[in-house]
Amino acid sequence: MYGINPQIVEYRRKLGLNIGEHWQMMTAGFVWFLADQARIVALQSSLSYRVFPVGCALLAFNPDAFHYEQVHKVFRGANMKIGKSNPKICAEQVAINAARSEGYKLIVGMAIAANVQPDDKSGLVSKTLHPCCDCRESFKILPEIRPDMRIISVHLEDDGIFEEYSVEELWAMHDCIKN
Ligand SMILES: [Zn+2]
Repeated sequence: MYGINPQIVEYRRKLGLNIGEHWQMMTAGFVWFLADQARIVALQSSLSYRVFPVGCALLAFNPDAFHYEQVHKVFRGANMKIGKSNPKICAEQVAINAARSEGYKLIVGMAIAANVQPDDKSGLVSKTLHPCCDCRESFKILPEIRPDMRIISVHLEDDGIFEEYSVEELWAMHDCIKN
C-alpha cells in the first residue's frame, strides 16, 4: 500500500508482536517520561547551526534479551546539523540506530520534542513537529518500524501542546513527494 518491501512485512509478521499491546502495557506516566526524555536530549545534546533543537526518545523491544528487565529499553537521540552545507542527521535516526546497534528489533513508540515549523516537503502546518519527509520515507524501509508504531510529538517549551498518532496516520497526513 505504501510501497513496503514484502520481505520486510514478512519479517515484521514473524516477530509476532502486537504494538498496541506493548504500548498499553505502558502507563500514561511512562508516555510523559518518554516525552520528557525527548525534551531533555533536545536541550542537552542537539547540535544545530540554526539553533533548532530536536530530541527523540523511543521505547524499543528485544525479544531475545537475556534478562527480563532488558526486554524493553529507552534510547535517545538528538539532531545534528553543523552547517548549512553539512548533512542533516535527524534525532529519530540517531535513536533508532542506537536501538538497532544494541540488537533491539522493534520500536514500540517514540516521543519527539521540538519547536514547530511547517513541514519542508508536505507544507503541512501542525501543532507539533512531525518526523520529516526523509524519516517518513525511512519508516517504510526500516525493519524496526511498523505502521502501527505510536508517535507522540510534543512542543519543546509547552507540555500542554502534543499530538499522538501512528506511523500509518503520519503517512496519511503528509503528501510527501521527494524531489
Ligand atoms: Zn527526519
